[in-house]
Amino acid sequence: MRIIDILRIKGGSVVTVPPDMPVEGLVSELARHRIGAAVVSRDGVVVEGIVSERDVVRALAERGPAVLSEPLSAIQTTQVRTVSPEAQLEDVARLMTERRFRHVPVVVNGRLSGVVSIGDVVKNRIDELETERSTLADYITGDRT
Ligand code: AMP
Repeated sequence: MRIIDILRIKGGSVVTVPPDMPVEGLVSELARHRIGAAVVSRDGVVVEGIVSERDVVRALAERGPAVLSEPLSAIQTTQVRTVSPEAQLEDVARLMTERRFRHVPVVVNGRLSGVVSIGDVVKNRIDELETERSTLADYITGDRT
């Protein structure tokens, strides 16, 4: 299964936030959309960074509540790992595990076209493995209808 197959099901909409938005604005956006991270982008097209709930928690622990009025540019990750829609689900699952992040923006020709979360990856990977398992079981038992 490829990332494009996941985006076909879940759609390509992505919550983006501008780098000058205060951290408290991000907190509201994450709560409102029930998500754990947002892509930082002024135009909603070019990926400038990513900010997740972990960045907020880390900054709060280090600098206290004053961080809530700082701009997102102060806490964002700018070296964003992105994938193409052609990437294989299995490779993205490995990337998330090795790099320890739970969100990967999908980019085509420099344009943001979706985001995949660890929840999407786990759900679709389980479906994929279950299909493989039942195909193999049918093969072994001779039930190949
Ligand atoms: P997450 O597990 O996605 O909440 O993010 C954990 C940390 O990795 C945070 O510091 C994020 O800013 C950062 N992060 C999340 N996604 C990515 C990504 N695709 N590329 C680089 N860093 C990321």
